[in-house]
Amino acid sequence: MIAKLSDFDHLLEESARIHGHLCPGQVLGVKMSILGLKEAGIEDPKGKDRKNIIVFVEMDRCATDAVQSVTGCSLGHRTMKFMDYGKMAATFVNLKTGKAVRVLAKEESRKTAKNLFPAIENKYAAQLEAYKVMSYDELFEVSDVKVAINPEDLPGRPLTRVRCEACGEQVQDMREVHVEGRALCRPCASGGYCEFFHGERYAKKA
Ligand SMILES: [Zn+2]
Ligand SMILES: [Zn+2]
Repeated sequence: MIAKLSDFDHLLEESARIHGHLCPGQVLGVKMSILGLKEAGIEDPKGKDRKNIIVFVEMDRCATDAVQSVTGCSLGHRTMKFMDYGKMAATFVNLKTGKAVRVLAKEESRKTAKNLFPAIENKYAAQLEAYKVMSYDELFEVSDVKVAINPEDLPGRPLTRVRCEACGEQVQDMREVHVEGRALCRPCASGGYCEFFHGERYAKKA
């Protein structure tokens, strides 16, 4: 059964199960998603609205899994975009209306959380309980934003397939770059995240 957006307990239970444990990040992420979806005008992200939503997450932390769990958006469906900013924030885009809202976790909420349950010794346990009872206003700052999403970033079949002229590997969805008249994959053009021991791919530029 899919939990309704109004059913916080059920959503939290579901996200903790998917994530593997209950933690402050799950509470924060679930609340962040409920708020973001509501503000973006998305009622049923896993049902009737499932084709109308894209989420940009700015962190790869516990809360990211909660966002995935509540919204149903994922990297594999191209409905979740990971922006490697190291910030506890996410933007919820309603593709149907164009409305987009960015939800940022307030830094002060950490301190408030610490003061709310002084009797709980474990810092994370106290944070977890505090995040549950704190209001959305205390926890988050919401901004209306504009997001331009290119056709090659939308869900659906790959728009293009191009062979990198250096490594010979296929590059989908216009991710190739043109350097001195040659179509190259990004790692061949500007270096990748890994090195091959035999030096045949990525590193070989000529
Ligand atoms: Zn966690
Ligand atoms: Zn290449």
